[in-house]
Amino acid sequence: MNFGDFGLDKRLMETIEHKGFTEPTEIQAKAVPVAMAGHDLIASSKTGSGKTLAFILPAVQRISTQRALSKKDPRVLILAPTRELAKQVFGQLRLFTANTQFKSVLILGGENFNDQVKTLSKDPHFIVATPGRLADHLDQGHFYLQGLELLILDEADRMLDLGFAEQLAKINSAADHRKRQTLMFSATLGHAQVNEFAADMLKSPKRIAIEHGHTEHADITKRFYLVDNLDHKEALLDHFLANEKLQQTIIFTATRADTERLASKLIAEGKSAIALSGDLNQSQRNQIMDSFSKGREQILITTDLASRGLDLVNVSHVINFDMPKHTEEFVHRIGRTGRAGNQGDAISFVGPKDWVSFKNVEGFLQQTIGFTEVEGLAAKFKGLKPKPKKKPVKAKAKKAAKSEQAPAKAKRINKKTMFTLQDAGDAPVMRRKTTVAPEDIDKQDEET
Ligand code: AMP
Repeated sequence: MNFGDFGLDKRLMETIEHKGFTEPTEIQAKAVPVAMAGHDLIASSKTGSGKTLAFILPAVQRISTQRALSKKDPRVLILAPTRELAKQVFGQLRLFTANTQFKSVLILGGENFNDQVKTLSKDPHFIVATPGRLADHLDQGHFYLQGLELLILDEADRMLDLGFAEQLAKINSAADHRKRQTLMFSATLGHAQVNEFAADMLKSPKRIAIEHGHTEHADITKRFYLVDNLDHKEALLDHFLANEKLQQTIIFTATRADTERLASKLIAEGKSAIALSGDLNQSQRNQIMDSFSKGREQILITTDLASRGLDLVNVSHVINFDMPKHTEEFVHRIGRTGRAGNQGDAISFVGPKDWVSFKNVEGFLQQTIGFTEVEGLAAKFKGLKPKPKKKPVKAKAKKAAKSEQAPAKAKRINKKTMFTLQDAGDAPVMRRKTTVAPEDIDKQDEET
């Protein structure tokens, strides 16, 4: 399939050509025709698959060729879970509407509310937003959605995991008219709340499943290294920074404090590094991301704050200095490399504190993961033994009684074991529970 087969507006085709995209990615090939035919859609696709264009192309095409339902109301609303992702989407939208008369605005939590009121009063055609802040403006009547033609939910699963159900429902009912088309994207289609929302928000949707969240990313090589302790992690990190062919590298740590500490250490050693931490205000974070994306630094150290939405084609390596707490973040973290057809390397350190997370990732990826060693830096740590399964007291007593009669069988049962959180072969998805006040996207980003 070619982009030419979609029947897109000439200006869109020119931008595609200008970007150097020669053929649609799988999600684009499948989703664009369905969306352009006016169907509602629920689609799964992996990170870095080109899903942003899969909804931007039909969105721009639609409003270029159809009469607006309202002169004032936004025509297209794109919602994304985090500021970083929303900014990324906005960047692509701006590019694909550059030669048009369409106005687009970006509405994010953590930024000046009154400035946003002014921007909304200019009757933009497109709004890209995080749901919390947008719902606040909707509540206060700063814009209306009766004329909305297209609602797009990017990473719907993550928005729901972050507790935005109420805001999404509010936005949905503010734009609840027959002519609205809705496109929903989610890392997985096996997410109960996504399916509930899809049943509520979508009309006879077409389903497109590209790949599941746990499917391997073909362009990313994953290597795992056992480590004994923090010093060992640092020694291994030094080794990789000195010996791998690195372009840009993102290092993920468990906490903000670890990010700061590691960044200070690397900078003190004269490395070209910068830290992105949740303690910074939005404009400082923007500056850091801008600087890194322009290639001014070689290494970005961060928490899961930067695991989604960043589209940096020069990132050759992702290093999980600490394994992620939330299993799905692993896929998002490593998805920062291997973008747009480039080869990427994901290196993960697994120490005693990372072991449970590692086993969960292994279960999530549905494969047994082997470890690699660096000569002279092999670990003594070889993994934690599974914890014996605790039996309820009553069952124990029963078993004891039984074991007197059948000791061999009782012994065998005793050997059944489980890992602390989740068995390696268990259901792959571990969901983040909502502890975040959804009204403030700031907190949500900084939670990590
Ligand atoms: P996304 O999954 O939307 O974040 O896109 C991932 C990367 O793929 C971005 O750098 C896009 O610019 C790039 N991309 C999108 N569509 C194509 C395409 N058809 N061919 C090559 N690269 C693409």
